[in-house]
Amino acid sequence: MPYHKLLERQIKKNLPEGLLADEHLSRFIQVISDSYKAFERDKALSEHAFQVSETDYLDIYNRLKSEINIRNQSIQKLKDAIRGMDSEAKVEILPSENNLLDVINYLNIQISKRREAEFALIVSKEEAEKANQAKTEFLSVMSHEIRTPLNAVIGLGHLLARQNPRPDQVNNLQVLRTSADNLLALINDILDFNKIDAGKLELDNSLFDLNILIKDLIGGFSIKAQEMANDLSFHIDSTIPEQIYGDAHRITQVLNNLLSNAIKFTSNGKVRLSLLLEKISETHCSILFSVSDTGIGIQKENVENIFNPFSQASSSITREFGGTGLGLAISSDLLKLMKGELKLDTELGRGSNFYFTLNLAYFDQPKESITVLESEAEDLFNAKILLVEDTPFNILFTKQLLEGWNTEVDVAENGAIAVEMVQTKNYAIVIMDLHMPVMDGYSSARKIREFNKETPIIALTASATLEIEGKIHDAGMQDYITKPFNPDNLFLKIRNLIPKETYSGIQ
Ligand code: ADP
Repeated sequence: MPYHKLLERQIKKNLPEGLLADEHLSRFIQVISDSYKAFERDKALSEHAFQVSETDYLDIYNRLKSEINIRNQSIQKLKDAIRGMDSEAKVEILPSENNLLDVINYLNIQISKRREAEFALIVSKEEAEKANQAKTEFLSVMSHEIRTPLNAVIGLGHLLARQNPRPDQVNNLQVLRTSADNLLALINDILDFNKIDAGKLELDNSLFDLNILIKDLIGGFSIKAQEMANDLSFHIDSTIPEQIYGDAHRITQVLNNLLSNAIKFTSNGKVRLSLLLEKISETHCSILFSVSDTGIGIQKENVENIFNPFSQASSSITREFGGTGLGLAISSDLLKLMKGELKLDTELGRGSNFYFTLNLAYFDQPKESITVLESEAEDLFNAKILLVEDTPFNILFTKQLLEGWNTEVDVAENGAIAVEMVQTKNYAIVIMDLHMPVMDGYSSARKIREFNKETPIIALTASATLEIEGKIHDAGMQDYITKPFNPDNLFLKIRNLIPKETYSGIQ
């Protein structure tokens, strides 16, 4: 029993009757009893409170412990990850074990280092792009500068060969023409490679006759094949459609390169171009092109390398056969652009087979066959031609060339003179150089078009850039030819553009 109740009972038992009724004494007993009650309650409360906080404390302590554990494990994992990322990350960088601040500091340092590296990369990428741009410009300027005199060399070589050279001059002339042709092919290869490299080469997609393309190609190699005592043949599956859509010029370029290699690296052997139909749908056909030879072949370890630019199978190849090692790199890149892949089977000493498949759209209606001009037909029936050209060399041979096709040629030495001459005389065609003093070819053509819409104009240009075509058409010119040009091509272009009545003698 609580003490205050005992005390109350003892007081009540031992005090005389009357005293208990005393107001003071009974309040005193009440106060004592209340104090005891309060004391008991506080005591019970504090005992309970103590018990509660002890369990809570234990709970919190346990939770903290497991959190610290998890945190330490995370830091350890972070450290492992950092070490995995960067093997150089030494313990010195993270001195006190499991210190999160060290890890954060380390990461901060790494982030700033990466940012610096990234910035340096951006700067060097910009520099590389500038250098690449400079290289492209340099090449196109150089090619322009080389093409102009080369035009004169090729053109004059061509003219001299037609002017009944003495027998002792024939061989020299042949060497001159072959060297000039090789130099031109080299410039074209470098320019093409540069264009592909810069992602600037765009493919044409026009209708062409595949049979004619192949026959012309083989015809062009017949002399070279004879010189090497090679048997040159071709086969085209009869099921292959004749009218194909694609870039005839680039397909020719690839086959040209493969055939020229096959003939070059084979003697007293066989070279064969074959076209097999792999698949055909209503609109497209897959054609397997292959150029095989029984020539020197290529060693296995060199096979991959020869597709790289400027690579040849060995240095002795360069000495014996010449070449730049660009042909296969260009061909393989061109085929990639056409969604094909150049492949090779070869065995040293036994021969090689270069092949690729192209999926091309076709036209299934027979098309009017293209008129192929025989060389006897190189007659322009006294057509009046205005040649607008400022370089004396080029005037000399282009004029002679044109006159050789039975034409009457006037020369204007700049674009302004040409405008005046077209005003005063009726020409069948104007051959217009683009770079000239006083007035260039573009401005001259524009001025001519202000009063004369009919006379066809062919631009003569030494630059081989892609933009040139659009610029020429914008200035009102119908066609262009790139210097140095093949005289037969110029003839065909003039022949196609001159009004038909000029050809009273041709059907
Ligand atoms: P180039 O013929 O100007 O050297 P290419 O890129 O066309 O350049 O050829 C690279 C090299 O591949 C050649 O130098 C030659 O070593 C090898 N090669 C190409 N075609 C043949 C072939 N038909 N037979 C043997 N070797 C070849």
